[in-house]
Amino acid sequence: MPLPRLTPRARSALIGASLLITLSACERPATQAPPAPVEVAPESAAAEPRPNDIVLLHGGIIHTVDSGQPLASAMAFYRSGEILAVGDDAALLAAFPDATQRDLAGRTVIPGLIDSHGHLHNFAESLTRAQLMGTQSKEEVVQRLREHEQSLGANDWLLGRGWDQNDWPVQEFPSAADLDQAFPDRPVLLERIDGHAAWANSAAMAMADRDLSGDWQVEGGLIYRDAAGQPTGIFIDKAALLLEQIVPATSDATMMEALDLAQDELLRLGLTGVHDPGLGRVAMDRFQRKLAQGQLRTRLYAMTDGAGETLDWLCANGPLEDPDGFLFMRATKLYGDGALGSRGAALLEDYSDDPGNRGLLFLQAQEMQAQVDKVLACGFQVAVHAIGDRGNRVVLDAMAAAMAAHPDNPGRHRVEHAQLVAPEDLARFAELGIIAAMQPTHATSDMYWAERRVGPERIQGAYAWRTLLDSGAKLAFGSDFPVEQVDPRLGLFAAVSRQDLAGEPAGGWYADERVTRYEALRGFTLDAAYAGFMEKMVGSLEEGKRADFVVLDRDYMSIPVAEIPKLVVLETWLDGKQLYAAPEAP
Ligand SMILES: [Zn+2]
Repeated sequence: MPLPRLTPRARSALIGASLLITLSACERPATQAPPAPVEVAPESAAAEPRPNDIVLLHGGIIHTVDSGQPLASAMAFYRSGEILAVGDDAALLAAFPDATQRDLAGRTVIPGLIDSHGHLHNFAESLTRAQLMGTQSKEEVVQRLREHEQSLGANDWLLGRGWDQNDWPVQEFPSAADLDQAFPDRPVLLERIDGHAAWANSAAMAMADRDLSGDWQVEGGLIYRDAAGQPTGIFIDKAALLLEQIVPATSDATMMEALDLAQDELLRLGLTGVHDPGLGRVAMDRFQRKLAQGQLRTRLYAMTDGAGETLDWLCANGPLEDPDGFLFMRATKLYGDGALGSRGAALLEDYSDDPGNRGLLFLQAQEMQAQVDKVLACGFQVAVHAIGDRGNRVVLDAMAAAMAAHPDNPGRHRVEHAQLVAPEDLARFAELGIIAAMQPTHATSDMYWAERRVGPERIQGAYAWRTLLDSGAKLAFGSDFPVEQVDPRLGLFAAVSRQDLAGEPAGGWYADERVTRYEALRGFTLDAAYAGFMEKMVGSLEEGKRADFVVLDRDYMSIPVAEIPKLVVLETWLDGKQLYAAPEAP
């Protein structure tokens, strides 16, 4: 499918035109029929929206994330998506007497939440696999696999994800033998919760392209073997590719269905937008078909997976910026280094718990520079994964040089994660206008061991949301699902508390780096929208923007912090349409 290349002028013309089109042709499916209009106005001959196309919410607590008017009680919008007015009940009830009225009865409204780093396509694929999160034993894993097997064809692999031996009575890696009795013939491959280990049965190992026994190893990976040199069934990092590369691809039909399920899950949790970092041609094509079919129920900001084939294709044809704001393809994701947990993040000094090890750069500085240059030359935004302080420095250096060389590029380049930044590099984010795209739940997942990796001094500059914000940098928040959970309530809670769900540690982990509730909300709305060039359309509730919003049972800004993860998403509206309603309480 050719991609429309739109100039800003053409785009705004199309946005205007699309208001008219969406009224008749592009009504997106709603899960619940809209309430009947209070008063039916006479049919209008013009193609303009009729009065009964206007919905007026009133009697609520509306946190707009619009600094000009942070709090309101009423909002009027066209069903076709555009917000007409935000203000107080009296003024809006007088201004829109014929609108369909909905009394919020004191409930809270916030802008639709945007996850600025969530792997939607991977998440969808994970929904087609056996879910092993939270299993308490190997026996429970086998039990869940047997249930999942019911949905499979005779020759399908049995795939699963999410096991964690730390949750089991004996906290040791499992083996093929644990699976072989239940599944002697069907190949089984199960990804560990962190994605850094795979657990296979003997049938799967027998299908590998090469004999897995012996004493050889894969660079960047590890095959666990017994004393006789036979593989035990555990494959670490790159070694897992020996099996992953022979798994038949999930069928297109299954993936298209799974994408619908994944989008519904996002809506259920109050998410109306997601930035998916790192998509190949096949995934990009699926999302374009979803757009063409009117089946995108999230605003998707899709980044290419690296500066290779997918970028070349998009650069030659694109960028794609859907005038309705449902699909943007104008960015590339690169990898700077690994992760702290596996000591793959590139550090300036040794790991505190592994002298002599400073981690690894995925790309040497020169190659990073070349790839960042290539992305900027195409006019795209570049987003680079950088976790260690050396990884961050190499990426900031490359971005600074490339920005000077390509002054026409619209910028807003992003460092994904930015977990450990050297004190002398912190100010460079604001100076260069580089966005720190950070994931609050990474901090609360890592806080149990992160200080061991980097020691008591460097930890002060780790997951440094407050410091970065105070330096003038823009933060965009996200979750990195499915590495972390999709649920944005957990991210909001982690951002303001730096505690786990049990309230530990008391007072918060390095609590000086907490942000306020408003800042956390902005990170998951307006600032995330900015990171995806969508802030003129979404991210706050104000006149002229699209009506993407969430109705909550209680006030996010005033309930006790510990209650934030328990807020109930009652409704999610996207582009003026209600796409999710919580089931009625029994
Ligand atoms: Zn990620």
